[in-house]
This record gives sequence, C-alpha cells and structure tokens, in this order.
Amino acid sequence: GVLENDLRLASCAKSFPRVKFRMYTDRKRVLVTGGAGFVGSHLVDRLMQDGHEVIVVDNVYTGRRRNVQHWIGHENFQLVTHDIVNPLYMEVEEIYHLASPASPPHYMSNPIKTLKTNALGTLNILGLAKRVKAKVLLASTSEVYGDPEVHPQPETYWGNVNPVGPRSCYDEGKRIAEAFARSYHEYEGVDVRIARIFNTYGPRMHMNDGRVVSNFVTQALSGQPLTVYGDGTQTRSFQYVSDLVDGLLALMNSSYTMPVNLGNPEERTVMDFARIVLGMTGSKSTIVHKPSVEDDPQKRRPVIELAKQVLGWKPKPPVEQVEELTRRNIERILRRMTDVKSI
Ligand code: NAD
Ligand code: UDP
Ligand code: UDP
Repeated sequence: GVLENDLRLASCAKSFPRVKFRMYTDRKRVLVTGGAGFVGSHLVDRLMQDGHEVIVVDNVYTGRRRNVQHWIGHENFQLVTHDIVNPLYMEVEEIYHLASPASPPHYMSNPIKTLKTNALGTLNILGLAKRVKAKVLLASTSEVYGDPEVHPQPETYWGNVNPVGPRSCYDEGKRIAEAFARSYHEYEGVDVRIARIFNTYGPRMHMNDGRVVSNFVTQALSGQPLTVYGDGTQTRSFQYVSDLVDGLLALMNSSYTMPVNLGNPEERTVMDFARIVLGMTGSKSTIVHKPSVEDDPQKRRPVIELAKQVLGWKPKPPVEQVEELTRRNIERILRRMTDVKSI
C-alpha cells in the first residue's frame, strides 16, 4: 500500500523548467506584483531560471494563473492572490511593481479601480519597500506623455495628458505612481527605479484585450476584417517582451532613480501594422476603418539614449521575434480549435 502510494505520487511529480543553482546567500527574494500578467510572467520566468526566489502577488484581474502554471509547486515560487489596494506584509529584497490593468478596454472598464490600483496600490508597495528596505521598480508607461507635442519623447518631456478624459484613470494613475515613487525616494530614502514602458507585444498577451496587435492578429487569422480606428496614420513603436524583460532587469541592477524609457524606436503607422499582419499571416482579410477613439495619442516613439547610456540596453533586431509571435499564436488558436494538447 505505502510503496504503491509513493510510486503513484512519484509518477504525478511535476517537472519544472531548469533553474540555475544558487547558494542561499546569493539568492534574492523577489516580489513581482502583477506577476500573473503578460509582462510579469515573462519576468518571473527569467528570475526563476536565474535561481531566485519569486513571490507573485496578483488579484488575477487581467492576469491568469495559466501564465505561471509551470512554476506552481516549485520550491522557489509562490503565488499569492491579493489585491494590492489592500496593505501587504511580507519580507523581500527586491520588488518589481507591475500590478495594473494595461490595455485601454481593461483600464477603462473600471476607471476607479484603475486609479485605486495605481495610487493606493503603489502607496502600499512603497510603504512595504520602506519598511523592509527593498529596492522597488515601478512599471510606468509612455502614456505619461499623453498625446505628445514633442516627438520623439525623451524622459525630460512632461507630457500632454487630459486629466479628465477617458484615458486619465490610467495616465494620471501612472503619473501619481511616479510622483509617489520619487517622493518615497527623496523623503524616505527608498531605493526606486522608474521604467516608462512603451507598447510591448509577445506570447501570452491577451488575445481579447482590444489592443492593436492582438486585434489584428486574431482578425487576420479568423478571416475577419482588420479594424483600423480613424484613418490609421497614428503611429506606435512596438518592442518585443524579451527586450523589455532585459531592460527591466538592467534597470533594477543599475543605480539610476529617475525615469527611463524602455521601448523600441522603430515607429510605424497603424495602417502599416495592418498591412504587416496581413502579409505575415497570409490572410485574405480586408481592412475597415472605424471611428477614431477619443484622446488617442497621434504619435509615439521613445528616445532611448538614456537607457543605452545608463543601462547599456537596446532592443534586439526584430525579425526572429515577430516570427515567434506569429507561430505561437497560430499554434494556440489551432490547438483551441482542434482541442489537442500538442501539434
Ligand atoms: P497585464 O494586464 O497582463 O498584467 C497586469 C497584472 O496586474 C495582471 O496579472 C493583473 O491581474 C494584475 N493586477 C491588476 N490590478 C491588480 C491589483 N489591484 N492587485 C493585484 N494585481 C493586480 O498587463 P501587462 O501588459 O503585463 O502590463 C504590466 C505592467 O506594465 C502594467 O503596470 C502596465 O501598466 C505596464 N505597461 C505595459 C505596457 C504594454 O504594452 N503591455 C506598456 C506600458 C506599460
Ligand atoms: N504598508 C504595507 N505594507 C508594509 C508597510 C506599509 O502595505 O509592509 C502600507 C501602509 O498600510 C500604508 C502605506 O503602505 O498605507 C504607506 O506606508 P507608510 O509607512 O509609508 O505610511 P504610513 O503608514 O505612515 O501612512
Ligand atoms: N487600434 C486600431 N484598431 C484596433 C485596436 C487599436 O486601429 O483594433 C489603434 C488605436 O486607436 C491606437 C493604436 O492602434 O491608435 C494602438 O492602440 P492600443 O490600444 O494597442 O495601445 P495604446 O493606445 O495604449 O498605445
């Protein structure tokens, strides 16, 4: 009976991705808020593979357990379901603070919750960092530049944000989060990092989050028309998620406490994106124009000289990355349609 039971348990044992071995003294205890989300889960993968102890705090509002499923049960990993609007007590050495809805339909669906998460949630995380003397990196956004009147955007630009528009819950939420981070640094001596993240894409992004890459890829693969909002001359600059993770790790390991842009300066119009997606997927979908959205930033491109200088960071050439994204999405959609585990 006992042996049988042991054998049964052994055969159920989960195999994990390989992680680097680290001595206890060399291993950091890292908190990732929002670690079950798109960007957070990729960061968690890197920290885990590098042999650190990782605690994810996430209320699974826009994230998914599935994104970190492959680590659940690993001795170095812990998933805590918690809403950061409420105080949080734990002992950690580093904090990557990513918890916040990120796509316009998500953050607009409950603007008060978005404001509370970015204001009160960030306050709690900074209070925690102060108490345990942890380094804390805030995931801010290019949205702090609003609909920019300076192009491309350097960190010294103060932005052009409508404080009472539909995007203000997110834009002003992130602006107050930056102000909190700087104030905790100046007044309380908390060691802060501020990443101004530009549009990012890659595997595990939500296919139904209403953003341009996910919409276009889903539409192209299902033969639906691609929906371009307005005339499609507005621009964005997209970086691949692994580049962003490299940048976040480099920023945390630097000693720079002012905001740093992390993005790929390769700028394209939305119309170009539509054509690129059609070309890559070989789709016969048409392009249709929908009404333009209120306060939609008309152009966006990062100046990344600061990141190059202080972090030695720049995005990698894009070709292989785009191919990987398309292949994975096609696989995922096919898998769902055919309901088989691997193809
Ligand atoms: P995401 O929605 O996939 O991940 C955010 C995570 O935060 C989710 O897992 C969500 O459940 C969690 N969360 C939200 N509110 C919470 C709360 N109150 N308490 C606990 N957890 C909460 O989004 P993402 O694209 O991975 O974005 C991560 C961070 O990067 C966000 O702070 C976002 O503002 C920032 N950012 C992302 C982009 C981008 O293009 N993806 C661009 C600029 C900035
Ligand atoms: N806080 C937290 N975890 C901690 C320490 C503080 O969630 O480990 C919260 C605390 O509840 C407060 C916020 O962080 O709402 C700011 O904390 P701080 O100590 O800076 O301010 P104070 O409590 O003095 O207002
Ligand atoms: N957009 C579009 N069609 C879509 C989704 C988005 O034309 O189906 C446009 C949108 O108006 C914006 C750009 O694509 O100009 C990027 O939008 P997204 O929501 O991805 O990101 P953000 O506006 O936050 O940069």
